[in-house]
Amino acid sequence: MYLCCSSTSSFIYEGVGQVLFSKYAHLYRLGNDVVLINSLRLKPVYLSYNKFITIKEFLESGKECDFDELVELKKYKIVIENQKDDSRILEFVKSHAPHPAVSVCYFILSEQCNLACKYCFLGNNDKEKRKHFYKQHMSQEVADKAIFHFIEQLEWHQEHQDLESVRPVVIFYGGEPLLNYDVLKYVVKRFNQLKEEHELLKNIEFSVVTNGLLLDEEKLRDLHDLKVSIAISIDGCDEKSNSMRVDTNGNPAFGRIVKVLDRIKELGVPVSLSITLTEESIKNKQKMIDLIKRYEIKGLGFNILMSDANFILPESYSVDAANFIVDMFKTLRELGVYEDRIMRKLNAFVNSQVYYSDCAATAASQIVVAANGDIGICHGCLADRKYFNHNVSESHLNLDNDLIWNEWSTLSPIYKDECQECEALGICGGGCPINALKEKEGNTIHSMDRRFCVHSKACLEFFLEDLYRIIFKKTSRCKKISL
Ligand code: SF4
Ligand code: SF4
Repeated sequence: MYLCCSSTSSFIYEGVGQVLFSKYAHLYRLGNDVVLINSLRLKPVYLSYNKFITIKEFLESGKECDFDELVELKKYKIVIENQKDDSRILEFVKSHAPHPAVSVCYFILSEQCNLACKYCFLGNNDKEKRKHFYKQHMSQEVADKAIFHFIEQLEWHQEHQDLESVRPVVIFYGGEPLLNYDVLKYVVKRFNQLKEEHELLKNIEFSVVTNGLLLDEEKLRDLHDLKVSIAISIDGCDEKSNSMRVDTNGNPAFGRIVKVLDRIKELGVPVSLSITLTEESIKNKQKMIDLIKRYEIKGLGFNILMSDANFILPESYSVDAANFIVDMFKTLRELGVYEDRIMRKLNAFVNSQVYYSDCAATAASQIVVAANGDIGICHGCLADRKYFNHNVSESHLNLDNDLIWNEWSTLSPIYKDECQECEALGICGGGCPINALKEKEGNTIHSMDRRFCVHSKACLEFFLEDLYRIIFKKTSRCKKISL
Protein backbone atom coordinates (compact mmCIF):
# COMPACT_ATOMS: atom_id res chain seq x y z
CA MET A 1 0.00 0.00 0.00
CA TYR A 2 1.53 3.32 -1.04
CA LEU A 3 0.53 6.67 0.29
CA CYS A 4 1.83 10.05 -0.60
CA CYS A 5 0.92 13.46 0.57
CA SER A 6 -1.07 16.05 -1.27
CA SER A 7 -1.98 18.14 1.79
CA THR A 8 -2.40 17.64 5.52
CA SER A 9 -5.90 16.38 5.02
CA SER A 10 -5.64 14.76 1.59
CA PHE A 11 -3.27 12.11 0.28
CA ILE A 12 -2.79 9.46 -2.43
CA TYR A 13 -3.77 5.91 -1.71
CA GLU A 14 -2.21 3.81 -4.47
CA GLY A 15 -4.62 1.75 -6.50
CA VAL A 16 -7.54 3.77 -5.23
CA GLY A 17 -6.67 7.35 -6.07
CA GLN A 18 -6.81 10.35 -3.84
CA VAL A 19 -7.79 9.69 -0.27
CA LEU A 20 -8.85 12.39 2.12
CA PHE A 21 -10.49 12.98 5.42
CA SER A 22 -14.22 13.13 5.14
CA LYS A 23 -15.68 16.54 5.86
CA TYR A 24 -17.80 14.66 8.41
CA ALA A 25 -14.66 13.35 10.19
CA HIS A 26 -13.80 14.74 13.62
CA LEU A 27 -10.91 14.14 15.98
CA TYR A 28 -10.81 14.12 19.78
CA ARG A 29 -7.92 13.78 22.18
CA LEU A 30 -8.33 11.36 25.09
CA GLY A 31 -5.17 11.48 27.21
CA ASN A 32 -2.54 9.54 25.25
CA ASP A 33 -5.11 8.37 22.72
CA VAL A 34 -7.41 9.86 20.15
CA VAL A 35 -10.78 8.97 18.72
CA LEU A 36 -11.99 9.74 15.22
CA ILE A 37 -15.59 9.66 14.14
CA ASN A 38 -17.60 10.42 11.03
CA SER A 39 -20.56 12.41 12.33
CA LEU A 40 -22.99 10.63 9.99
CA ARG A 41 -21.55 7.12 10.14
CA LEU A 42 -21.27 7.17 13.95
CA LYS A 43 -18.63 4.45 14.35
CA PRO A 44 -15.76 5.78 16.45
CA VAL A 45 -12.22 4.54 15.84
CA TYR A 46 -9.82 4.78 18.81
CA LEU A 47 -6.05 4.96 18.27
CA SER A 48 -3.09 5.85 20.39
CA TYR A 49 -2.08 9.44 19.76
CA ASN A 50 1.35 8.25 18.63
CA LYS A 51 -0.16 5.83 16.17
CA PHE A 52 -2.42 8.53 14.80
CA ILE A 53 0.56 10.86 14.34
CA THR A 54 2.57 8.07 12.71
CA ILE A 55 -0.23 7.34 10.28
CA LYS A 56 -0.69 11.01 9.56
CA GLU A 57 3.05 11.49 8.98
CA PHE A 58 3.19 8.51 6.65
CA LEU A 59 0.26 9.85 4.76
CA GLU A 60 1.93 13.22 4.46
CA SER A 61 5.36 11.83 3.57
CA GLY A 62 4.15 9.62 0.76
CA LYS A 63 6.06 6.64 2.15
CA GLU A 64 4.78 3.13 1.91
CA CYS A 65 2.33 2.38 4.68
CA ASP A 66 0.11 -0.54 5.48
CA PHE A 67 -1.64 0.17 8.74
CA ASP A 68 -4.57 -1.99 9.73
CA GLU A 69 -6.10 1.09 11.29
CA LEU A 70 -6.42 2.71 7.89
CA VAL A 71 -8.77 -0.07 6.88
CA GLU A 72 -10.98 0.79 9.85
CA LEU A 73 -10.79 4.48 9.08
CA LYS A 74 -11.92 3.79 5.54
CA LYS A 75 -14.59 1.34 6.58
CA TYR A 76 -16.20 3.91 8.85
CA LYS A 77 -15.86 6.72 6.30
CA ILE A 78 -13.41 8.73 8.36
CA VAL A 79 -11.17 8.72 5.32
CA ILE A 80 -12.82 8.61 1.93
CA GLU A 81 -11.65 8.15 -1.62
CA ASN A 82 -13.01 11.42 -2.91
CA GLN A 83 -15.45 14.15 -2.05
CA LYS A 84 -18.23 12.39 -3.86
CA ASP A 85 -18.20 9.87 -1.01
CA ASP A 86 -19.30 12.63 1.36
CA SER A 87 -22.17 13.57 -0.94
CA ARG A 88 -23.13 9.91 -1.14
CA ILE A 89 -23.13 9.54 2.65
CA LEU A 90 -25.33 12.60 3.04
CA GLU A 91 -27.69 11.46 0.29
CA PHE A 92 -27.91 8.04 1.91
CA VAL A 93 -28.74 9.61 5.28
CA LYS A 94 -31.33 11.90 3.72
CA SER A 95 -32.89 9.01 1.82
CA HIS A 96 -33.43 7.22 5.13
CA ALA A 97 -34.95 10.23 6.89
CA PRO A 98 -38.34 9.21 8.22
CA HIS A 99 -41.23 10.55 6.18
CA PRO A 100 -43.64 12.80 8.04
CA ALA A 101 -46.18 10.45 9.56
CA VAL A 102 -48.41 11.51 12.42
CA SER A 103 -48.18 9.27 15.48
CA VAL A 104 -48.45 11.80 18.33
CA CYS A 105 -51.44 13.90 19.32
CA TYR A 106 -51.38 16.61 21.96
CA PHE A 107 -54.76 17.30 23.50
CA ILE A 108 -54.64 20.80 25.00
CA LEU A 109 -57.46 20.11 27.41
CA SER A 110 -57.28 23.61 28.78
CA GLU A 111 -55.24 26.62 27.74
CA GLN A 112 -55.74 28.04 31.21
CA CYS A 113 -53.27 27.28 33.98
CA ASN A 114 -53.39 27.45 37.77
CA LEU A 115 -49.71 28.44 37.73
CA ALA A 116 -47.84 31.22 35.95
CA CYS A 117 -44.22 30.05 35.98
CA LYS A 118 -41.95 32.97 35.24
CA TYR A 119 -40.21 31.18 32.37
CA CYS A 120 -43.36 29.67 30.80
CA PHE A 121 -42.65 29.35 27.07
CA LEU A 122 -46.35 29.26 26.29
CA GLY A 123 -46.80 32.72 27.80
CA ASN A 124 -49.01 31.85 30.77
CA ASN A 125 -46.92 34.27 32.84
CA ASP A 126 -47.72 37.14 30.53
CA LYS A 127 -51.01 38.97 31.14
CA GLU A 128 -51.23 40.05 27.50
CA LYS A 129 -50.56 36.58 26.11
CA ARG A 130 -52.87 35.04 28.66
CA LYS A 131 -55.69 37.04 27.14
CA HIS A 132 -55.17 35.18 23.86
CA PHE A 133 -55.70 31.79 25.39
CA TYR A 134 -59.07 30.19 24.87
CA LYS A 135 -61.07 30.64 28.07
CA GLN A 136 -63.19 27.51 27.94
CA HIS A 137 -61.78 24.06 28.44
CA MET A 138 -61.88 21.58 25.56
CA SER A 139 -65.44 20.30 25.20
CA GLN A 140 -66.34 16.66 24.77
CA GLU A 141 -67.55 17.50 21.29
CA VAL A 142 -64.18 18.98 20.28
CA ALA A 143 -62.41 16.01 21.91
CA ASP A 144 -64.54 13.59 19.86
CA LYS A 145 -63.62 15.36 16.64
CA ALA A 146 -59.95 15.45 17.67
CA ILE A 147 -60.07 11.68 18.26
CA PHE A 148 -61.53 11.22 14.79
CA HIS A 149 -58.82 13.36 13.17
CA PHE A 150 -56.02 11.59 15.00
CA ILE A 151 -57.30 8.17 13.95
CA GLU A 152 -57.64 9.41 10.40
CA GLN A 153 -54.02 10.60 10.43
CA LEU A 154 -52.87 7.27 11.85
CA GLU A 155 -54.74 5.42 9.14
CA TRP A 156 -53.23 7.55 6.41
CA HIS A 157 -49.72 7.50 7.69
CA GLN A 158 -49.27 4.27 9.56
CA GLU A 159 -51.40 1.80 7.61
CA HIS A 160 -48.48 0.13 5.86
CA GLN A 161 -46.61 -0.44 9.09
CA ASP A 162 -46.54 -3.67 10.99
CA LEU A 163 -49.26 -3.23 13.64
CA GLU A 164 -46.89 -4.08 16.46
CA SER A 165 -44.59 -1.23 15.52
CA VAL A 166 -47.35 1.40 15.47
CA ARG A 167 -47.28 3.24 18.77
CA PRO A 168 -49.78 6.07 18.80
CA VAL A 169 -49.11 8.50 21.61
CA VAL A 170 -51.67 10.81 23.18
CA ILE A 171 -50.29 13.55 25.42
CA PHE A 172 -52.63 15.56 27.64
CA TYR A 173 -51.18 19.00 27.98
CA GLY A 174 -52.13 22.58 28.75
CA GLY A 175 -52.17 25.14 30.34
CA GLU A 176 -52.98 22.65 33.03
CA PRO A 177 -54.72 19.56 31.62
CA LEU A 178 -56.15 18.44 34.97
CA LEU A 179 -58.38 21.54 34.98
CA ASN A 180 -60.39 19.51 32.48
CA TYR A 181 -60.10 16.11 34.07
CA ASP A 182 -63.50 14.77 32.96
CA VAL A 183 -62.61 15.20 29.31
CA LEU A 184 -59.23 13.56 29.90
CA LYS A 185 -60.98 10.46 31.25
CA TYR A 186 -63.52 10.60 28.46
CA VAL A 187 -60.79 10.67 25.77
CA VAL A 188 -58.94 7.69 27.23
CA LYS A 189 -62.08 5.63 27.55
CA ARG A 190 -63.22 6.56 24.05
CA PHE A 191 -59.89 5.54 22.49
CA ASN A 192 -60.01 2.27 24.40
CA GLN A 193 -63.52 1.58 23.07
CA LEU A 194 -62.36 2.37 19.54
CA LYS A 195 -59.53 -0.17 19.69
CA GLU A 196 -61.91 -2.88 18.51
CA GLU A 197 -62.72 -1.00 15.30
CA HIS A 198 -59.24 0.40 14.73
CA GLU A 199 -56.44 -2.09 15.15
CA LEU A 200 -53.91 0.73 14.78
CA LEU A 201 -54.88 1.83 18.28
CA LYS A 202 -53.77 -1.50 19.75
CA ASN A 203 -50.60 -0.09 21.35
CA ILE A 204 -51.85 3.41 22.11
CA GLU A 205 -50.09 5.11 25.02
CA PHE A 206 -51.37 7.99 27.12
CA SER A 207 -49.52 10.47 29.25
CA VAL A 208 -50.38 13.65 31.08
CA VAL A 209 -47.91 16.44 31.75
CA THR A 210 -49.13 18.29 34.81
CA ASN A 211 -47.89 20.63 37.49
CA GLY A 212 -49.44 18.11 39.89
CA LEU A 213 -51.34 20.53 42.10
CA LEU A 214 -54.73 19.03 41.24
CA LEU A 215 -53.68 15.43 41.68
CA ASP A 216 -55.75 13.99 44.52
CA GLU A 217 -56.05 10.37 45.55
CA GLU A 218 -59.02 9.66 43.30
CA LYS A 219 -57.34 11.05 40.20
CA LEU A 220 -54.10 9.25 40.97
CA ARG A 221 -55.87 5.91 41.29
CA ASP A 222 -57.97 6.57 38.17
CA LEU A 223 -55.02 7.59 36.03
CA HIS A 224 -53.08 4.56 37.18
CA ASP A 225 -56.03 2.26 36.35
CA LEU A 226 -56.46 3.94 32.97
CA LYS A 227 -52.72 3.41 32.27
CA VAL A 228 -52.08 7.11 31.81
CA SER A 229 -48.43 7.89 32.60
CA ILE A 230 -48.11 10.88 34.87
CA ALA A 231 -45.26 13.35 34.38
CA ILE A 232 -45.06 16.02 37.05
CA SER A 233 -43.25 19.20 36.20
CA ILE A 234 -40.91 20.60 38.80
CA ASP A 235 -37.77 22.76 38.73
CA GLY A 236 -35.54 21.05 41.22
CA CYS A 237 -35.31 20.00 44.77
CA ASP A 238 -36.09 23.01 46.95
CA GLU A 239 -38.00 26.23 47.31
CA LYS A 240 -35.13 28.28 45.89
CA SER A 241 -34.81 26.20 42.71
CA ASN A 242 -38.57 26.45 42.26
CA SER A 243 -38.79 30.18 42.91
CA MET A 244 -40.02 30.78 39.36
CA ARG A 245 -42.79 28.20 39.78
CA VAL A 246 -45.50 30.47 41.12
CA ASP A 247 -49.26 30.74 40.87
CA THR A 248 -51.10 33.60 39.21
CA ASN A 249 -50.86 35.60 42.45
CA GLY A 250 -47.12 35.08 42.64
CA ASN A 251 -47.29 32.54 45.50
CA PRO A 252 -44.70 29.75 45.40
CA ALA A 253 -45.97 26.33 44.42
CA PHE A 254 -43.15 24.08 45.60
CA GLY A 255 -44.54 23.31 49.09
CA ARG A 256 -47.82 22.18 47.55
CA ILE A 257 -46.07 20.01 44.95
CA VAL A 258 -44.07 18.29 47.69
CA LYS A 259 -47.28 17.41 49.54
CA VAL A 260 -48.62 15.84 46.33
CA LEU A 261 -45.39 13.90 45.86
CA ASP A 262 -45.61 12.66 49.47
CA ARG A 263 -49.13 11.41 48.84
CA ILE A 264 -48.08 9.76 45.57
CA LYS A 265 -45.35 7.92 47.42
CA GLU A 266 -47.78 6.70 50.09
CA LEU A 267 -50.13 5.40 47.41
CA GLY A 268 -47.31 3.78 45.43
CA VAL A 269 -48.42 5.26 42.11
CA PRO A 270 -45.46 5.48 39.68
CA VAL A 271 -44.83 8.94 38.27
CA SER A 272 -42.03 10.49 36.28
CA LEU A 273 -40.66 14.00 36.61
CA SER A 274 -40.28 16.64 33.94
CA ILE A 275 -37.53 18.77 35.47
CA THR A 276 -36.95 22.24 34.13
CA LEU A 277 -33.40 23.23 34.91
CA THR A 278 -33.27 26.68 36.42
CA GLU A 279 -29.97 28.39 37.13
CA GLU A 280 -30.52 27.56 40.78
CA SER A 281 -31.44 23.89 40.33
CA ILE A 282 -28.26 23.05 38.45
CA LYS A 283 -26.14 24.29 41.34
CA ASN A 284 -26.79 21.28 43.50
CA LYS A 285 -26.64 17.87 41.92
CA GLN A 286 -26.76 15.97 45.20
CA LYS A 287 -29.98 17.65 46.32
CA MET A 288 -31.59 16.75 43.00
CA ILE A 289 -30.53 13.13 43.45
CA ASP A 290 -31.92 13.11 46.99
CA LEU A 291 -35.29 14.30 45.66
CA ILE A 292 -35.31 11.58 42.98
CA LYS A 293 -34.41 8.93 45.54
CA ARG A 294 -36.88 10.18 48.14
CA TYR A 295 -39.79 9.84 45.74
CA GLU A 296 -38.49 6.63 44.13
CA ILE A 297 -38.62 8.17 40.68
CA LYS A 298 -37.72 5.69 37.93
CA GLY A 299 -37.92 7.96 34.89
CA LEU A 300 -37.44 11.62 34.19
CA GLY A 301 -36.55 14.13 31.55
CA PHE A 302 -34.60 17.35 31.92
CA ASN A 303 -35.77 20.49 30.15
CA ILE A 304 -33.33 23.23 29.27
CA LEU A 305 -34.79 26.70 29.82
CA MET A 306 -35.80 28.70 26.80
CA SER A 307 -34.65 32.26 26.54
CA ASP A 308 -36.27 35.19 24.78
CA ALA A 309 -36.29 38.98 24.89
CA ASN A 310 -38.23 38.95 28.20
CA PHE A 311 -36.38 36.08 29.81
CA ILE A 312 -32.67 36.43 29.27
CA LEU A 313 -30.27 33.79 30.52
CA PRO A 314 -26.52 34.26 30.98
CA GLU A 315 -24.23 32.73 28.34
CA SER A 316 -22.86 30.37 30.99
CA TYR A 317 -26.28 28.76 31.52
CA SER A 318 -26.13 26.57 28.36
CA VAL A 319 -22.75 25.11 29.32
CA ASP A 320 -23.70 24.60 32.97
CA ALA A 321 -27.01 22.96 32.06
CA ALA A 322 -25.35 20.70 29.46
CA ASN A 323 -22.70 19.56 31.97
CA PHE A 324 -25.29 19.09 34.68
CA ILE A 325 -27.40 16.81 32.46
CA VAL A 326 -24.37 14.65 31.61
CA ASP A 327 -23.22 14.47 35.24
CA MET A 328 -26.69 13.60 36.42
CA PHE A 329 -27.04 10.93 33.75
CA LYS A 330 -23.89 9.19 35.02
CA THR A 331 -25.32 8.98 38.52
CA LEU A 332 -28.89 8.20 37.51
CA ARG A 333 -27.92 5.18 35.43
CA GLU A 334 -26.19 3.73 38.50
CA LEU A 335 -29.49 4.17 40.34
CA GLY A 336 -31.47 2.55 37.51
CA VAL A 337 -33.25 5.83 36.69
CA TYR A 338 -34.02 6.49 33.03
CA GLU A 339 -33.22 10.01 31.79
CA ASP A 340 -35.00 10.52 28.53
CA ARG A 341 -33.14 13.45 26.98
CA ILE A 342 -29.73 11.76 26.85
CA MET A 343 -31.12 8.28 26.22
CA ARG A 344 -32.67 9.42 22.93
CA LYS A 345 -29.23 10.49 21.68
CA LEU A 346 -27.42 7.55 23.24
CA ASN A 347 -29.67 5.10 21.37
CA ALA A 348 -28.65 6.74 18.10
CA PHE A 349 -24.97 6.59 19.02
CA VAL A 350 -25.05 2.99 20.22
CA ASN A 351 -26.93 1.81 17.13
CA SER A 352 -24.90 4.02 14.75
CA GLN A 353 -28.15 5.40 13.40
CA VAL A 354 -28.61 9.06 12.67
CA TYR A 355 -31.04 10.76 15.03
CA TYR A 356 -33.07 13.03 12.79
CA SER A 357 -35.38 14.99 15.08
CA ASP A 358 -35.42 15.61 18.79
CA CYS A 359 -39.09 16.57 18.88
CA ALA A 360 -42.13 15.18 17.14
CA ALA A 361 -42.92 18.61 15.67
CA THR A 362 -39.66 18.73 13.68
CA ALA A 363 -40.30 15.17 12.59
CA ALA A 364 -43.72 16.46 11.42
CA SER A 365 -45.16 13.50 13.27
CA GLN A 366 -47.44 15.31 15.68
CA ILE A 367 -50.64 17.27 15.70
CA VAL A 368 -51.64 19.59 18.51
CA VAL A 369 -55.33 20.17 19.14
CA ALA A 370 -56.03 23.39 21.05
CA ALA A 371 -58.93 23.69 23.49
CA ASN A 372 -61.20 25.22 20.83
CA GLY A 373 -60.30 22.57 18.25
CA ASP A 374 -57.66 24.52 16.30
CA ILE A 375 -55.03 22.14 14.96
CA GLY A 376 -51.37 23.06 14.73
CA ILE A 377 -47.96 21.46 14.78
CA CYS A 378 -46.44 22.84 18.00
CA HIS A 379 -47.98 23.70 21.36
CA GLY A 380 -45.30 26.38 21.80
CA CYS A 381 -47.35 28.56 19.44
CA LEU A 382 -50.67 28.35 21.25
CA ALA A 383 -50.75 32.02 22.21
CA ASP A 384 -50.45 33.43 18.70
CA ARG A 385 -51.76 30.33 16.88
CA LYS A 386 -48.84 30.59 14.49
CA TYR A 387 -48.43 27.22 12.77
CA PHE A 388 -52.07 26.39 13.50
CA ASN A 389 -54.03 26.29 10.27
CA HIS A 390 -56.85 23.78 10.69
CA ASN A 391 -59.73 23.09 13.01
CA VAL A 392 -61.33 19.83 14.05
CA SER A 393 -64.58 21.06 12.48
CA GLU A 394 -63.00 20.66 9.01
CA SER A 395 -63.79 17.34 7.44
CA HIS A 396 -60.39 16.10 6.20
CA LEU A 397 -56.89 17.23 7.00
CA ASN A 398 -54.43 16.36 4.31
CA LEU A 399 -51.16 17.06 6.03
CA ASP A 400 -49.11 15.44 3.26
CA ASN A 401 -49.51 18.54 1.11
CA ASP A 402 -49.70 20.95 3.97
CA LEU A 403 -47.22 23.84 3.86
CA ILE A 404 -46.66 23.89 7.63
CA TRP A 405 -46.04 20.17 8.08
CA ASN A 406 -43.83 20.13 5.01
CA GLU A 407 -41.82 23.12 6.19
CA TRP A 408 -41.32 21.64 9.66
CA SER A 409 -40.24 18.31 8.19
CA THR A 410 -37.14 20.07 6.79
CA LEU A 411 -35.89 21.32 10.16
CA SER A 412 -33.62 18.36 10.90
CA PRO A 413 -29.92 19.33 11.12
CA ILE A 414 -29.17 17.01 8.21
CA TYR A 415 -30.80 19.59 5.92
CA LYS A 416 -29.05 22.63 7.44
CA ASP A 417 -25.87 24.07 5.92
CA GLU A 418 -24.74 25.38 9.32
CA CYS A 419 -24.82 21.86 10.74
CA GLN A 420 -22.82 20.05 8.07
CA GLU A 421 -19.46 20.55 9.76
CA CYS A 422 -20.72 19.94 13.26
CA GLU A 423 -19.39 16.94 15.13
CA ALA A 424 -22.78 16.29 16.75
CA LEU A 425 -24.68 16.18 13.44
CA GLY A 426 -25.64 12.51 13.68
CA ILE A 427 -26.83 12.46 17.29
CA CYS A 428 -28.30 15.94 17.62
CA GLY A 429 -31.81 15.92 16.18
CA GLY A 430 -31.80 19.73 16.30
CA GLY A 431 -33.14 21.85 19.06
CA CYS A 432 -36.43 23.61 19.49
CA PRO A 433 -37.38 25.81 16.52
CA ILE A 434 -39.57 27.91 18.79
CA ASN A 435 -36.62 28.62 21.03
CA ALA A 436 -34.54 29.46 17.95
CA LEU A 437 -37.30 31.78 16.75
CA LYS A 438 -37.56 33.62 20.05
CA GLU A 439 -33.86 33.77 20.78
CA LYS A 440 -33.35 37.03 18.94
CA GLU A 441 -35.02 39.51 16.66
CA GLY A 442 -35.08 38.44 13.03
CA ASN A 443 -34.82 34.72 13.77
CA THR A 444 -37.13 32.18 12.18
CA ILE A 445 -37.89 28.54 12.95
CA HIS A 446 -34.99 27.75 10.60
CA SER A 447 -32.50 29.57 12.84
CA MET A 448 -30.22 27.67 15.18
CA ASP A 449 -31.22 26.86 18.75
CA ARG A 450 -27.67 27.53 19.98
CA ARG A 451 -28.42 26.57 23.56
CA PHE A 452 -29.18 23.09 22.28
CA CYS A 453 -25.93 22.85 20.27
CA VAL A 454 -23.96 23.06 23.52
CA HIS A 455 -25.98 20.18 24.93
CA SER A 456 -25.61 17.99 21.81
CA LYS A 457 -21.85 18.48 21.65
CA ALA A 458 -21.47 17.75 25.38
CA CYS A 459 -23.44 14.53 24.87
CA LEU A 460 -21.18 13.37 22.04
CA GLU A 461 -18.05 14.03 24.12
CA PHE A 462 -19.58 12.04 26.95
CA PHE A 463 -20.50 9.09 24.68
CA LEU A 464 -16.97 8.95 23.24
CA GLU A 465 -15.44 9.14 26.71
CA ASP A 466 -17.77 6.53 28.06
CA LEU A 467 -17.16 4.06 25.25
CA TYR A 468 -13.43 4.56 25.77
CA ARG A 469 -13.86 3.79 29.47
CA ILE A 470 -15.86 0.65 28.69
CA ILE A 471 -13.57 -0.73 25.95
CA PHE A 472 -10.16 0.32 27.20
CA LYS A 473 -10.87 0.58 30.95
CA LYS A 474 -9.31 4.04 30.91
CA THR A 475 -10.79 7.36 31.85
CA SER A 476 -9.94 10.67 30.28
CA ARG A 477 -11.70 13.91 29.38
CA CYS A 478 -12.50 14.02 25.70
CA LYS A 479 -11.38 17.22 23.98
CA LYS A 480 -12.00 18.12 20.36
CA ILE A 481 -8.86 18.96 18.37
CA SER A 482 -8.46 19.82 14.73
CA LEU A 483 -7.83 17.05 12.29
S1 SF4 B 1 -40.76 22.89 18.55
FE1 SF4 B 1 -40.09 23.24 20.65
S2 SF4 B 1 -41.95 23.77 21.77
FE2 SF4 B 1 -42.59 22.82 19.82
S3 SF4 B 1 -42.84 20.64 20.28
FE3 SF4 B 1 -40.74 20.91 19.56
S4 SF4 B 1 -39.47 21.20 21.40
FE4 SF4 B 1 -41.65 21.53 21.96
S1 SF4 C 1 -28.10 22.02 15.77
FE1 SF4 C 1 -26.11 22.59 16.61
S2 SF4 C 1 -25.35 20.72 17.61
FE2 SF4 C 1 -27.04 20.14 16.29
S3 SF4 C 1 -26.02 19.53 14.39
FE3 SF4 C 1 -26.60 21.67 14.17
S4 SF4 C 1 -24.77 22.82 14.81
FE4 SF4 C 1 -24.56 20.73 15.57
